[in-house]
Amino acid sequence: MNTKTKKAQSQKCRYCDDTHIVIEAMSGAYAQASFCQCFPSPCDECHGARFQLQQDAQGRDIATPCPKCEVKKRNIKLYNNARIPNNYAHSKLAHSDRDKENQVAYQQLTTIIRNYAKNRKLSPASEETPRQNIDSKGLVLMGSPGTGKTYLMAGLAYQCTITHGISCMFQGFSELLSDIKDGFSSQKSEIEIITPHLAAELLIIDDLGKGRNTEWELSVLDTLISKRYNSNKPIMVTSNYTEKEATTIKERLLTKDKTGEDKFIADTLRRRVGERIYSRLQEMCYFETLTGRDRRLQGSEMDY
Ligand SMILES: [Zn+2]
Ligand SMILES: [Zn+2]
Repeated sequence: MNTKTKKAQSQKCRYCDDTHIVIEAMSGAYAQASFCQCFPSPCDECHGARFQLQQDAQGRDIATPCPKCEVKKRNIKLYNNARIPNNYAHSKLAHSDRDKENQVAYQQLTTIIRNYAKNRKLSPASEETPRQNIDSKGLVLMGSPGTGKTYLMAGLAYQCTITHGISCMFQGFSELLSDIKDGFSSQKSEIEIITPHLAAELLIIDDLGKGRNTEWELSVLDTLISKRYNSNKPIMVTSNYTEKEATTIKERLLTKDKTGEDKFIADTLRRRVGERIYSRLQEMCYFETLTGRDRRLQGSEMDY
C-alpha cells in the first residue's frame, strides 16, 4: 500500500464513510438522512453558489445544480420522503450485505436498480408522458420471516434515492390497507387514495398478503398495480407467502382438528392476493424466493 492510499483510508469519515450523508433512526417512525458534519460549509465545489455553469452545444452558459451539495440535498429529501422504517436505517444494499444465502436476490436487486437508473437517463419522461420502451421489471421477493427480504428492499430504497436520485416509496402492506380504509372513510376517491403510490417512481410493498384482505381492498390494490403497469413504473414486493405450499408461510388456525391438534393453513401468494393481482405481478416482476436461516435468531441486533 503506498503512503497516499494509506493516508486516504485513515482520513475516511467514520460517520459517513465519505458519502457526506448519514442515516439515523429518528424519534418518528421513519429513518432520516442528513448531511454529515464533515460536509464542508460552504460547499468546496461551488463555493456556496449551489450551481455550476456549463456550456451547451451552442456554446451558451447553462446552470446545473452542483453535484456535491444541491444534488445530494435533493437525494436526501428523496430518502426522507421514502418512509423507510427506523429499524432499517442501516440498510444500504452494501456489498457487505451479500452472502451465500441472498446472493441471487442481492444480484437481482442491484442489477434492476442500476439498469433502471441508466435507462431512465436515456429516456427522459415528464408527469404527462410516462417512459416507454424501458425495462421497468421489478422483483417479488418471497420467503420465510427473518430471511432478510425487507432488509434488502430497504437497502434498495437507499440505493434508489441516495445513489441514483430516483423517488421511491416504501409501503408496508398493512399500513397500505389502513390508508385505503381511512381514505374511504373520509370519502376520498380510489384514485385520490393511491395518488402518492402512483407518484413515486419506484414503489416497494412490504409484506404483501399479510392480514385479512377484503375483496374491496384487493380491488384498490389491483387498480394501483395496473396503473403503475400502464405508466411503466417498477414495483417491488416482499412476501412471506411463496408460490409453493411447501415453502409458503404456515399459519395456525383458531380451530383444532378432531384429535385436538393445531390446524395449519398454507396459502400460496397466488391464493392470497387473487388471480388478477398475481398475474399482473407476473407480468411486471421477476420472482425470487429467499431461503436459509432466520437471521433474527442469530443474536443479531439488526432487523431483517
Ligand atoms: Zn462524514
Ligand atoms: Zn456545491
